[in-house]
Amino acid sequence: MYPPEFGYFKPQSLEEALDFLEKEDARPLAGGQSLIPMLKLRIISTGYLVDLNPLSSLSFVKDEGSQVRVGALTRHAEITSNTMIKTEVPLLYEASRQVGDVQVRNVGTIGGSVSNADPAADYPSVLTALDAKIVTTSKGGSREINALNFFKGPFTTSLNEGELVKEIVFPKLNGYKTSYVKVVRRAGDYAMVSIAVALRLKEGKVEDVRLSYSGVSDTPYRAKEAEKVLMERELNEENIKKAAEVAASGANPPSDVRGSSWYRKEVMKVITVKTLGDMK
Ligand SMILES: Cc1cc2nc3c(=O)[nH]c(=O)nc-3n(C[C@H](O)[C@H](O)[C@H](O)COP(=O)(O)OP(=O)(O)OC[C@H]3O[C@@H](n4cnc5c(N)ncnc54)[C@H](O)[C@@H]3O)c2cc1C
Repeated sequence: MYPPEFGYFKPQSLEEALDFLEKEDARPLAGGQSLIPMLKLRIISTGYLVDLNPLSSLSFVKDEGSQVRVGALTRHAEITSNTMIKTEVPLLYEASRQVGDVQVRNVGTIGGSVSNADPAADYPSVLTALDAKIVTTSKGGSREINALNFFKGPFTTSLNEGELVKEIVFPKLNGYKTSYVKVVRRAGDYAMVSIAVALRLKEGKVEDVRLSYSGVSDTPYRAKEAEKVLMERELNEENIKKAAEVAASGANPPSDVRGSSWYRKEVMKVITVKTLGDMK
C-alpha cells in the first residue's frame, strides 16, 4: 500500500528540526522501521517527515561514571556491538540483541523505539526495570522524564507536540544481576511476553529487585506488588512461585495474533519462575 502524500524536510541542525516541528504538521523520522509501515498502512498521516538522520549529535554512547547516556539516534546494532554497554548496562545489551532481525537492528534506533511506545517492544520494559531517564528537547526547553512516567498507553507517551527524545540515561546498577528473556512466536518477532529483571542479593536474601514485562499490558508493566513479595526474603522456589503468581494476576495482557490473554499470563509465570530461578 502507498502512504498518503507527505513532504520531506532535511534539517541542518537540531535547532532547525525543532523549529520546523513546532511550526508544521510534521513527524520526526529516525530509522523509519515503525513510522514508514504505519504510513503505508494509513494508520497515521502527516504533512511532513523531518529526517533526524543528518543530526549526528543525536547518535552517541557516553560512559559518565555512574551512568551511561545513549543518544536517541543510536541504532540497535550500535548498542549490541558496544562493549562498554555490554559490561555496564548488560540488560540493555541483552534486549538490543533480540530486537527484530539484522536489518531492523541496523536501521532502527533506540529513540524511535522508545517514542513509538509499542507495548510489545523490548526497550520499554528494560528502561522501566532500570529506572532510566528519558531526556527530551523542544523549543520550550529540556525535560528529564522517569521511564515509569513516560509510557502512557499503546503508542502513547508523555511527549508533547514538537518535542523530541534527545537521549536516554541509564544508571549503572553495581552489584546487580540482570536478565532479559523474551518469548516469541517466530524468530525476529515482537515479544509475546518478555521479562526484564534486575536483582541484588545479600547473604541469600533479596536486597532489591525489579521485574518489568513487555507484551502484557498497555504499557511496560513494572510488577511492584510481585517485587514486594520477594523483598528481604530468600530467593527460594516458594517465594519465586508466589511472586510469579502475583505478577501475572496484576497484568492485563491483550488477546491478539501473538497469544490469548490467558496464555500470556501462563507464559509470564513460567518465564518469571525460570528467570529468577536461574539468577539464584
Ligand atoms: C520486521 C520488524 C520487526 C521488528 N521487531 C521488533 C522487536 O522484536 N522488538 C522491538 O522492540 N522492535 C521491533 N521492531 C521495531 C524497531 O525496533 C524499530 O526500530 C522501532 O520501533 C522504531 O525505531 P525507528 O528508529 O525505526 O523509528 P521510526 O520508525 O523512524 O519512528 C517511530 C516513531 O517514533 C517517532 N520518533 C522517532 N525518533 C524520535 C525521537 N528522537 N523523538 C521523538 N519521536 C521520535 C516517529 O515520529 C514515529 O512516530 C521491528 C520492526 C520491524 C520492521
